[in-house]
Amino acid sequence: MEHLVRPNIRELKPYSSARHEYSGHASVYLDANENPFPTGHNRYPDPLQFDLKNKISSIKKVEIGQIFLGNGSDEPIDLLFRIFCQPIEDHVLVLPPTYGMYEVAAQIHDTPIISISLNKEFQPDYDKIMEKASPHSKILFLCSPNNPTGNLLNPLTVERLIQSFPGIVVVDEAYIDFAASSSFTSKIKEYPNLVVLQTLSKAWGLAGLRLGMAFAHPSIINFMNRVKAPYNLSSLTQSTVLDLLDQSPAPYIQSILAERVFLEDRLMSFSFVKKIYPSQANFLLVQCADANRLYNYLLSQGIVIRNRSSVPGCSNCIRITVGTKEENQFLLKALDKFTQL
Ligand SMILES: *Cc1c(COP(=O)(O)O)cnc(C)c1O
Repeated sequence: MEHLVRPNIRELKPYSSARHEYSGHASVYLDANENPFPTGHNRYPDPLQFDLKNKISSIKKVEIGQIFLGNGSDEPIDLLFRIFCQPIEDHVLVLPPTYGMYEVAAQIHDTPIISISLNKEFQPDYDKIMEKASPHSKILFLCSPNNPTGNLLNPLTVERLIQSFPGIVVVDEAYIDFAASSSFTSKIKEYPNLVVLQTLSKAWGLAGLRLGMAFAHPSIINFMNRVKAPYNLSSLTQSTVLDLLDQSPAPYIQSILAERVFLEDRLMSFSFVKKIYPSQANFLLVQCADANRLYNYLLSQGIVIRNRSSVPGCSNCIRITVGTKEENQFLLKALDKFTQL
């Protein structure tokens, strides 16, 4: 794994914060130029979020040294580029249609992108990917369940790719809590080039708090810790998330999955709906007769969905997030009216 790291990062002497150098318990802290008066937030937060990782470690069955916590999933994605991708020289592989953030991050880091479309079933083509792979292929992004298509990637293909791909393989599991599938976190001991991304933004209902998780071999986690901003998660985020992790997301998941079945069933009855792709997530990808017209109509009714019709492989497709029972009923009523226009 270390041979994949950019030379400047391999040699980096990271900034050592006051709270990093002394992490024990003392009576008086005069080391960090903090304000001594208790505002509730006058002290710098734990740079490595020990208490939070401890709890996440027991929930996710992953060791503390295999966990990185960031400001949303965007932070670990950004760090992986900074650690592994020499701008212009190296490249990354993405499999569209998929989450747009990988490509944006690549552009920010001036890293070329090789796009290899998912096949008709929205599955990765192992041979095509390996044909393109070279020593400059630093990251392969796999998203499972995939956004915006909603399907799980075949776990056997994913594992074969982890075994054969010469660079880092990121498995983005933002929607894994909704899926009938186990996480790839159980494989991080086995594969030092595997990074699994999860988030509290979807099933846990905490998108506003911005907490993304990366699970990987400790040597990758160490590089992420060295490159990140010293205090990347505020004390408010750390303490709030620590409390909220006691509330299981199971009731949310149960309700959203039941509503997804209901919504899918009702949507099928509309003649303008051509196809609903099977979903293992909290959204449905729906192919309709005229996506732009439907999208604009729903906007006029105060309902925002995601128009994906310009995405290659998703012509005339919209993505609908499963809402509450009331929200879904509101949507269906508006669609009833649409058919009568
Ligand atoms: C929503 C989503 C995320 C989560 O992003 P956060 O920055 O953690 O909110 C990550 N990956 C995919 C594919 C997503 O759809």
